[in-house]
Amino acid sequence: MLAPEIIDAIKDICRGQVNPGADMAEYCSLKAGGRAAAVAFPPGRDELEVLVSFLRGKRVPYLPFGRGTNLLVKDGGYPGVFISLAEGFSRVEHEREEGSGHLRIRAEGGAPLSRVVELAAEKGGAGLAPLTGIPGTVGGALRMNAGPAGTKGQVGESVKSALILESTGRVTTWDREDLKFGYRTSSLRERDFVLEAILELKPGAPEKIRKEMEAIREKKKSSQPWDLPNAGSIFKNPERGKAGEMIEEAGLKGVRIRGAQVSPVHANFIVNVGGATARDILSLAGMIRDRVKEKFGVLLEMELKVVGED
Ligand SMILES: Cc1cc2nc3c(=O)[nH]c(=O)nc-3n(C[C@H](O)[C@H](O)[C@H](O)COP(=O)(O)OP(=O)(O)OC[C@H]3O[C@@H](n4cnc5c(N)ncnc54)[C@H](O)[C@@H]3O)c2cc1C
Repeated sequence: MLAPEIIDAIKDICRGQVNPGADMAEYCSLKAGGRAAAVAFPPGRDELEVLVSFLRGKRVPYLPFGRGTNLLVKDGGYPGVFISLAEGFSRVEHEREEGSGHLRIRAEGGAPLSRVVELAAEKGGAGLAPLTGIPGTVGGALRMNAGPAGTKGQVGESVKSALILESTGRVTTWDREDLKFGYRTSSLRERDFVLEAILELKPGAPEKIRKEMEAIREKKKSSQPWDLPNAGSIFKNPERGKAGEMIEEAGLKGVRIRGAQVSPVHANFIVNVGGATARDILSLAGMIRDRVKEKFGVLLEMELKVVGED
């Protein structure tokens, strides 16, 4: 999809860490979707900045990419480059603030969120236990303000600041107020990269944190589908009520369109029972939206990010 000389230049910049024509089903947790012109893994910040500036200059579209746990690429593919920080940006460090005793964690954008949650438990930093079991990277979590279904315990509550490579090419520090976290939203734009985040956590007893994490793990094990590819909740909860309950009451639990099924375990999850295309998943999501609108008069909003062409 991209000229060979552009692919060669991306390879040069990323020291070979590029997959041209990548099948995005391999990279996304739904195990479905089309191809991208390339997935690139810049090994460090210099390379990332050069790559972004090169692509902007050539007018090649690009998007930040974490672990693809909230992303679906349409079957016609994405004609640009997914830039993943998952390889070159995974450092996580911590320090204890004197005086307040707060635990400060500095995590690069490509670091697994689960590693940060574990570290907080080990070192006695409170506030991240509600993120137990959420896959993906720190960057993806900030962009989505990942968290549990309720209003409390979202990642944004623990973020002190973040270092952002803006779509203009500038690198700036954004404080929590600048990030404007909302329900699965932040003020980060499509092409802003979270290079690193600083989380500030009140002191907490490791045993208590671990207990909370264990309880969450147990609850998720029995209430979410673990054995089939999915992307977590497909829809956001509306202002009143829960999307999962509405979908279930609309009689859709277990309903299938070819390889895509409304999970029999949790109705707000769509699972890939084998060979689902992006079209199957989106048709099923469309059916859910129509039925819930008919029954409850509520228009559900997608939580899953969908990109690319039909
Ligand atoms: C089994 C399962 C359970 C889940 N449970 C939950 C849950 O309880 N709560 C919840 O909130 N979510 C949940 N999710 C969804 C998902 O894990 C989160 O949204 C996660 O934060 C996405 O991270 P990612 O790295 O995979 O991002 P991706 O899916 O790769 O990308 C998501 C978005 O973030 C952007 N992005 C990625 N990296 C960066 C970066 N470095 N800088 C800027 N933008 C970036 C992408 O461009 C895209 O717009 C679940 C998913 C699964 C599969």
